[in-house]
Amino acid sequence: MDLLNIVKDAGIIGAGGAGFPTHAKLTSKAEYILLNGAECEPLLRVDQQLMERFPDEIIKGLEAAGRYIEARKAIIGIKGKHKEVIILLRQRIGALGLSNYMEVMELRDIYPAGDEQVLVHELTQRIVPEVSIPLKVGCVVINAETALNISKAMAGNPVTETYITVAGDVPQRLTVKVPVGVSIRDVLRQCGVENADDYAVIDGGPMMGSVMNNVDGYVTKKSKGYVLLRKDHFLIRKKSVSLDRARIIGKTACEQCRMCTDLCPRYLLGHNMQPHKIMRALSYNLEDVKEQQIAQLCCECNACELFSCPANLHPRSVNKFYKQKLAEQGIKYQPILMDFQVRSARDYRLIPSKRLVARIGLTAFDKPAPLTQVEFKPEYVSIALRQHIGAPATPVVAIGEQVKAGQMIAKIPDNSLGAAVHSSFNGTVTEIKDNSILIKVGSYV
Ligand code: SF4
Ligand code: SF4
Repeated sequence: MDLLNIVKDAGIIGAGGAGFPTHAKLTSKAEYILLNGAECEPLLRVDQQLMERFPDEIIKGLEAAGRYIEARKAIIGIKGKHKEVIILLRQRIGALGLSNYMEVMELRDIYPAGDEQVLVHELTQRIVPEVSIPLKVGCVVINAETALNISKAMAGNPVTETYITVAGDVPQRLTVKVPVGVSIRDVLRQCGVENADDYAVIDGGPMMGSVMNNVDGYVTKKSKGYVLLRKDHFLIRKKSVSLDRARIIGKTACEQCRMCTDLCPRYLLGHNMQPHKIMRALSYNLEDVKEQQIAQLCCECNACELFSCPANLHPRSVNKFYKQKLAEQGIKYQPILMDFQVRSARDYRLIPSKRLVARIGLTAFDKPAPLTQVEFKPEYVSIALRQHIGAPATPVVAIGEQVKAGQMIAKIPDNSLGAAVHSSFNGTVTEIKDNSILIKVGSYV
């Protein structure tokens, strides 16, 4: 079987959070394959530790994907502050005889270094055009955990687990390997918190993650981190403001200083994303949604809302509001330019991670979250059929059927973008719903 089909059968998706099916990235040829090891979300500690713990597997997974798409070079992007990991990766690349093919490049400690378009520019000096993808400039980007999963798939193991950092205002910060389908409460318990309901929990990183309404869900392949904070923490209060409230405040209080634009990472890459203009449209009650098409250039990194705006307003949320309106009306941004130049002041306007962490009130919690071995012994696992971008997977098992750990339980629907889903334990299928399969964990006879 060729690599594309191995990756497809193993249900590999982008482990960086977006969940794009990885096999779809392998259908094109590209000049570069880039490993996104930036992990720029504050407090999350997955990729940096995986690169340290599994360097050979990650290097081999990246190499295999790179050779498959006929990339002439593979580049690992990792922040320069992870000096020991960088030394290790360089040693292992040399020991594996890949020095002519692969190199490690050090990224600045800025936010959002892991935004695909920022990463492409930092590693290749190329700029992905507006509303486009890295492939347009000859690059395919995969995440460090995705490369590890490719390596595992080549050894016959599909994706049945994910690595998660549990961090924040908790007694014990840690990073754990969690079988897909385990309850989130089971994971949160590992950080020494008795009752997670006493906390607000962010699903993902503090910048782009959202505050969960409740923690009664289950881990998916996309789960990367949970950040627990007191309910009255600044970040929770800010993230909990409704879209309606954000619009009302923005309408009256925006002073048009344009800091949100001047520090916007997409604007700094030369794109036309200018959130202050969107805020102006809001203030003036401009009803012509079509004129606000630039809102579609926002990657929702949240830098404007959580760092740049001196008035503590919500430009990202307002962008999102206009994005929704544009989508409802079927309007798509039409780029005027195709060649982009970074703004001349970009180097002076990058957001240092340390200052960002301080700004969002997380300095006290910016500590290691060591990779820790935990054995999860759930009674049931609930495995979602849609853990990825695309169509939900179609069950291929029946109620009452015994399944083995690693067995495919749902496949990609015909002619659709999607990802296969596998059982994370031996057990018996007890329920099949529209969106998940419930498995009672037990022995396979
Ligand atoms: S930074 Fe804040 S106050 Fe300044 S233009 Fe943007 S939204 Fe308005
Ligand atoms: S969230 Fe704000 S800073 Fe980030 S891309 Fe969108 S407009 Fe720019």
